[in-house]
Amino acid sequence: MATEIAMSPDLPTPSLARRITSGLTVLGLTLFLVTFVVPWVTGTAPWGGLGALSLLVPIAVLTLGGGIGWILTLYLGTDPGIKNDNTFFSGLQLRGLWGWIAGIAFTAFYVVLYWFPAVLEGPIRLMDPVAMAITGHQADQWFLYGTLYTVLVLVFGLRMAYRYRHNRYQLIRTGSVSFFQLGFAWLIPHFLARLHAPEYYATYFWPLKPEYAYPPAHGGYLFDAGVIGTVMVVISAVMILVVTPVLTYFYGKRWYCSWVCGCGGLAETLGDPWRHLSDKSVTAWRIERISIYAVLVFVVLTTGLLWLDWALGSAVLSGVSEGFRSWYGFLIGAAFSGVIGVGFYPLLGSRVWCRFGCPMAALLGLQQRFFSRFRITTNGGQCISCGNCSTYCEMGIDVRAYAQREENIIRASCVGCGICAAVCPRGVLKLENGPVGDRYDHADKPLTAILEALGQPPLGELRSREE
Ligand code: SF4
Ligand code: SF4
Repeated sequence: MATEIAMSPDLPTPSLARRITSGLTVLGLTLFLVTFVVPWVTGTAPWGGLGALSLLVPIAVLTLGGGIGWILTLYLGTDPGIKNDNTFFSGLQLRGLWGWIAGIAFTAFYVVLYWFPAVLEGPIRLMDPVAMAITGHQADQWFLYGTLYTVLVLVFGLRMAYRYRHNRYQLIRTGSVSFFQLGFAWLIPHFLARLHAPEYYATYFWPLKPEYAYPPAHGGYLFDAGVIGTVMVVISAVMILVVTPVLTYFYGKRWYCSWVCGCGGLAETLGDPWRHLSDKSVTAWRIERISIYAVLVFVVLTTGLLWLDWALGSAVLSGVSEGFRSWYGFLIGAAFSGVIGVGFYPLLGSRVWCRFGCPMAALLGLQQRFFSRFRITTNGGQCISCGNCSTYCEMGIDVRAYAQREENIIRASCVGCGICAAVCPRGVLKLENGPVGDRYDHADKPLTAILEALGQPPLGELRSREE
């Protein structure tokens, strides 16, 4: 489809306002890049401490003012409704030159963030005034990262809200991820640091944040943090053992993956321009089934081994369990969730991590598939087979195939983002909660249904195989 449409690249000329706002953003970003380069050349970042404000303010005004202005020029004055916004003419959004440049830049940022943080000395010092105001300390690479992450969720959340303003679900959901990112994943953890308490991210739980359940002296920093740490451990345990299953039963995994989680929040805001790049092939579906549960097994094993090691007094297993811990941290925590998960947005789509790697998504997905009231209902008689829904499904689900057969979508991988429904011109798809019993065949015999599901590709993939 992409090749076919890209042959008629008669794009509208950008308005003067859009060119001015683009110019301001580029100027701000260039200044920001200068802050990387100066310390490499001179060996020092001469703007540390409060003095950094004289550089931070103009950079923030230019980049954010230009960026927000640019978003306004995109959508202000346009009618609410479904827009393809020249997506399939854009090199940035269709793995053209700019798409590759963006992918390489994102990936390079993650590589230096995890393994060469000294490269970030300039921008880290730039954040000193903000860090000192909130945490009482100088900034480090994680403060820089958290701040950039939050700003991106908020700014691209604004874009998301404008783009999908015809759909109430998208407006509320975007407000929710922005709220949780700003409050629970940025402000509160950094205030806790000011109080010398552990940096606790109340929106992340085991197994997505495995160190919250690691034992004392084996990376379990909450267990090592006295009474306040113990309270945090108890909150985490209640969230994963009680609150999570209950909410997933009533609303599916969307309550977490598309409303609360920071990884989902970034994917749904910064990642939205690339959601159509998700691989819809049967091969991708086969890889997804293996890889996501392999990561879940990996984290369960790692946690189990560490506790066994703790119980045995580190006498037997220390090499093995610590090996598991450090390999999990390197392979999954850094390389997969960060470098590939976000770095590859412009190349593989916005939910690579959520679809192929996140152990929390795996756990919630299993429950959503078999023990939840959530489903997407389809009114196939209205479907005109435009394919918008399948194109924009970030999880690679062939939504159209379900719509055409009037079957409920109850896939484990569906994150309930609701974009398929938001881009459907015929109102075919509805995200609903209802009795578990009528969601799928053998719902009254879940074990039979699970065994059947193991050997059977889901509807869309079955159709592709037949074709
Ligand atoms: S099926 Fe719809 S709600 Fe589910 S992940 Fe795909 S686009 Fe989102
Ligand atoms: S369900 Fe809606 S978006 Fe999907 S193919 Fe049918 S009409 Fe198009």
